[in-house]
Amino acid sequence: CSLCEAKVPDIRSHMGQHILRALTNTPESLKEQVGKVLPCGFCGKSGLPECTIRIKVVANGPPSLETKCIYHFVFKYKFADKGSKNTPCRNVPIRCTLCHPVLPPEPGKSSRKIIPTFVDAIWRYNMVEHVLSQHQEYSVPGYRETGAPLPAEVWESMRLTDLEQTTARIPKERWQVRREADKENAPASGSRTRKRPGLETAASLPSKRPRTNVQPLQSSHTLLA
Ligand SMILES: [Zn+2]
Ligand SMILES: [Zn+2]
Ligand SMILES: [Zn+2]
Repeated sequence: CSLCEAKVPDIRSHMGQHILRALTNTPESLKEQVGKVLPCGFCGKSGLPECTIRIKVVANGPPSLETKCIYHFVFKYKFADKGSKNTPCRNVPIRCTLCHPVLPPEPGKSSRKIIPTFVDAIWRYNMVEHVLSQHQEYSVPGYRETGAPLPAEVWESMRLTDLEQTTARIPKERWQVRREADKENAPASGSRTRKRPGLETAASLPSKRPRTNVQPLQSSHTLLA
């Protein structure tokens, strides 16, 4: 790892934890700090052209990734995307469905169609920054109160698990702010969640979402262009 000089078997998971700590302003003594703008999930640096990453999502099977980052590490996408007990870090590039909406099913077909081409990918932990700058019509819990609530699918793609935040040693007061609806969707075996003090923070958030300033989906790029 070029930031902390540790020898690590899985740079994707290792770097993800550096990035989460940087995003939550959790201090860490590093030889070099994580990049400030959309850091690369493999090397942690910002703005290197070789770190551009593209993703091709296919109907069946794992997506393909394309990047020239020198720290590029081949990993099992579906496993990493889901997170596991031993490797909870879900630092993976994803396809932003606000930038690249999935088309509705064609008449007479049940499955939604994904056009299998490479598109620019966003690392999961960079989704907050991406939505804040590129999808200004949406609110982001803990960051921007104005705007429409993010579609569930998008919010799920950027939501962090408790375990990945614990493993990255993020102090609980800096954990990701939840949405009201997250509590209803919490797993039925909720004894763990009920005890969690973080819930009180979520519950004390203002429950009304401002609905002014809502713009049509496609407008963000034209607005920024
Ligand atoms: Zn490191
Ligand atoms: Zn990189
Ligand atoms: Zn997007």
